[in-house]
Amino acid sequence: MAGGFPTLLSPLDLGHTTLRNRVVMGSMHTKLEDRRRDLPKLAAFFAERARGGTALIVTGGYAPTWRGWLLPFGSQMTTTRQATAHRVVTDAVHEHDGKILLQVLHAGRYAYHPFSAGASGRKSPITPFKPRALSTRDVDRTATAFARAAALARRAGYDGVEIMGSEGYLINQFLAARTNTRTDAWGGSAAKRMRFPLEIVKRTRDLVGDDFIVQYRISLLDLVDDAQSWEETVELARGLQDRGVSILNTGIGWHEARVPTIVTSVPPAAFAWVTGKLRREVDVPVIASNRINRPEIAEEILAAGDADLVSMARPLLADAEFVAKAASGREREIITCIACNQACLDHTFSNKRATCMLNPRAAYETELVLLPTRTRKRIAVVGAGPAGLAAAVELAGRGHRVDLFEAADRIGGQFTLAARIPGKEDFAHTLAYYRHMIGTRGITLHLGTRATVDDLTDFDSVIVATGMIPRIPPIPGIDHPSVVTYQQVIGSSAEVGSRVAVIGAGGIGFDVAEFLLHEPGESAEHWMRRWGVADPDQQRGGLSTKVKAPPRREVHLLQRKASALGKGLGKTTGWVHRATLQDSGVTMLGGVEYVRVDDEGLHITVPVNPKDPKSPREARVLAVGTVVVCAGQEPVNDLVVPLTARGVDVHVIGGADVAAELDAKRAIKQATELAARL
Ligand code: NAP
Repeated sequence: MAGGFPTLLSPLDLGHTTLRNRVVMGSMHTKLEDRRRDLPKLAAFFAERARGGTALIVTGGYAPTWRGWLLPFGSQMTTTRQATAHRVVTDAVHEHDGKILLQVLHAGRYAYHPFSAGASGRKSPITPFKPRALSTRDVDRTATAFARAAALARRAGYDGVEIMGSEGYLINQFLAARTNTRTDAWGGSAAKRMRFPLEIVKRTRDLVGDDFIVQYRISLLDLVDDAQSWEETVELARGLQDRGVSILNTGIGWHEARVPTIVTSVPPAAFAWVTGKLRREVDVPVIASNRINRPEIAEEILAAGDADLVSMARPLLADAEFVAKAASGREREIITCIACNQACLDHTFSNKRATCMLNPRAAYETELVLLPTRTRKRIAVVGAGPAGLAAAVELAGRGHRVDLFEAADRIGGQFTLAARIPGKEDFAHTLAYYRHMIGTRGITLHLGTRATVDDLTDFDSVIVATGMIPRIPPIPGIDHPSVVTYQQVIGSSAEVGSRVAVIGAGGIGFDVAEFLLHEPGESAEHWMRRWGVADPDQQRGGLSTKVKAPPRREVHLLQRKASALGKGLGKTTGWVHRATLQDSGVTMLGGVEYVRVDDEGLHITVPVNPKDPKSPREARVLAVGTVVVCAGQEPVNDLVVPLTARGVDVHVIGGADVAAELDAKRAIKQATELAARL
């Protein structure tokens, strides 16, 4: 059973109960938590993960009081009626021998509603509402409310609770001088700031008894100023242990921290060393988290003794069968999370249901169902980019006979380029997955084959996923030898000089700038220096000064819109891309008009006042040797009309359908929904 991952797949004895392996599904808010009528969907979502072998699941956060809501009328666990409604969730997980904890989370000053309350009245930099400072009595009541929520969770059939003490939420706010300016019994000294979580755990343990998991998520690196010192963190951990905590989960970085902690460019398992540091100080099991997305990485952390368990949240959105596949030697079939955040966290922060770009069934288990087909059809898929690959693999998975045509000599389309961007190396796992599944599912792959209408007329259905071509804007001199496309640059078929102008600042313009400035495969040590992450023993909160290397090139990133560059990038990732380029000295110009390209460089005009697009314009020459065009794309779908005219059943998906908002999330979702229908 243990296969190549003996530690990962070994059970963990917690005394009163045993976890079947070391995989914990970390807490995520999917938006199925808040309304009673969505609980059956939440149950199906968790049930698939339990059936797939996950040992311990943690729900999204439930507030212990209404003031602790994340959002207006957000999820809470305060009444027996709510507890009873959760039976459907706990039963579904237990049916598949999994265990599940309810996360109790008080948002504190991170609450997105006007009734928020914090350790003190300081507003957070990431929310619009100024919190009310909890009174001395209210603090006491809130600690009791945490314990009551745990008792209700027990009543609902949960195996335990996770008390959310990290990421800058209320408990974390009590712990840091930055946010706790109280002078009563709950603030003023490190010992008094610590009282709140210690009381919560003590009261919880007293109320729920010994045979219930009380997991606490402790902040190991706050990554903000005026944070906890390492000695305080260790003292807190030991205090929690003395008060009966069963497991310590670890959290990295407050939400307001300006250091990325989970995006693709964070190196694999970048923070496991801090968990290892804590593990040496305590006796209870500890959980490592953040950017652990493959079984071999998890195994390495556990085997090295840095943790007893690993937490994966997004990787279990991407693949519900992560553990089962790892356990049966099918790890190449795992859909690896690429930490893009496009359909999970970006959805959560836009108040939409979280799902997964690579697995659109996540959190839609009861709605997007792919059943074996009763009528086996012959289906041609034209184009092996993300849309075509997803369609081919899902159709073949349902039992259809699939031929996949690709004009290039390899699969991947735009994803092949993405995998070459520094910080996006994980995209290569997606391509490896599809390559493997093409073989496993018996898809006939025709590489280097531009399918013609005649090739396609005999199929029962044809799926056109031919993608797009880069848009070449009609700027005078666009045919000058210094002008190249992003495909040429990323594909390394174009020479790029030391001074570069990038036309277009969408996702690809940003990617190209990173490609031109950084090396792929950055080490965790280099990454930490670049972002100012330090050993918390040396620097309070693990935050130090960023070490910036001299840029490899002079890069100008341009767009015609007057809005801030990178505004259209992902909510949770855009700021990281912007900060990275700013730290590398990239000039970002909006409101640009492109005049011409010639031997002098790129001639543009810009508003004199960058904040006022209507202000007079001034002419500038960017003396660059290379101009890279990243001006969006045009769809390629010329097979559609002739095939339709011949009476073929044709479907268009991905960039071939809409190139404007070309994105893999829409492409894969569209492909999967089509595959479910055919
Ligand atoms: P895009 O996001 O649509 O951006 C195109 C850029 O070109 C814009 O900055 C646009 O700005 C400019 N542009 C459009 N028409 C132009 C014209 N005629 N002349 C000059 N400039 C023009 O497209 P993309 O950057 O190619 O990215 C495509 C998609 O790939 C994205 O939408 C995204 O889904 C995906 N992607 C995402 C990421 C990510 O980090 N999440 C990374 C890479 C790619 P102005 O019109 O203001 O000049």
